[in-house]
Amino acid sequence: MRLLILGGTSEASALARRIADRPDLDAVLSFAGRTQSPVPPPIPFRVGGFGGITGLKAYLVEHKTNAVIDATHPFAARMSRNAAAACRDLRLPLAVLTRPAWRSQPGDRWTSVAEMAAAVQALGDRPRTAFLTVGGLQLAAFAQAPHHRYIVRTIEPPDAIRSLPFHRLVLARGPFSIEDEIALIRDERVDVLVTKNSGGGATEAKLAAARALGIEVIVVERPAPEAVPTFDTIDGILAWIEAHRAAP
Ligand code: NAP
Repeated sequence: MRLLILGGTSEASALARRIADRPDLDAVLSFAGRTQSPVPPPIPFRVGGFGGITGLKAYLVEHKTNAVIDATHPFAARMSRNAAAACRDLRLPLAVLTRPAWRSQPGDRWTSVAEMAAAVQALGDRPRTAFLTVGGLQLAAFAQAPHHRYIVRTIEPPDAIRSLPFHRLVLARGPFSIEDEIALIRDERVDVLVTKNSGGGATEAKLAAARALGIEVIVVERPAPEAVPTFDTIDGILAWIEAHRAAP
């Protein structure tokens, strides 16, 4: 069975590790190419966009792909939309492997917003110190509010950092501990955290730290998911693969 796994997440990498020794599954893991030095997976991989829906369909036909697993990040909405459209047109099975969204707990002070521009607005007029853990691509939105001080944490230096006049850049890759998150928030005198509702264990310590210190969290909620079978465990997706492998 030929599989295309759309990746760029720890879930996709975990799936690749689980199926690496399955001779019956001929899987390719696809990366967008955003990270300079991705960790090479234990299965064949490719890097770079397909060229929209048309390019993805051409790839799927050329490689005689039997099924697609969309294990992209919950905020990679364009790729998910393209995968849904291409698989619908080609009548190929498609499933999503994702992580559950974070949910607020007692003691949290969350402000939920639908998009990054609304998160910028929610910071308000009074100058504050905001801890931004939103990735590099959408940082430029915060240039609209240059009166705040920004503590920006990304894995690689983001180009848009230049658009924030008053900032400190922290380059780090999760997982992070609650103790370290509390220390960072205290040392930098952070009074508001801004995050996407990415879900997952590697970066959720910041939420517990914010809860412990009683600071506000502005949460950008996920874009609407595609209407396709969705699993949040590797076992779930493997059962789905099995069902489609057995299908004629
Ligand atoms: P996006 O906005 O949904 O996608 C933009 C374009 O990038 C797509 O149309 C596609 O180009 C290409 N692309 C995206 N994912 C791809 C993949 N796995 N393989 C090949 N091409 C891909 O995506 P994004 O938000 O920029 O995310 C890019 C990558 O980073 C994804 O792999 C995602 O899983 C990962 N990631 C994203 C976030 C986030 O917050 N958005 C966080 C962590 C990791 P074509 O149209 O040319 O095919």
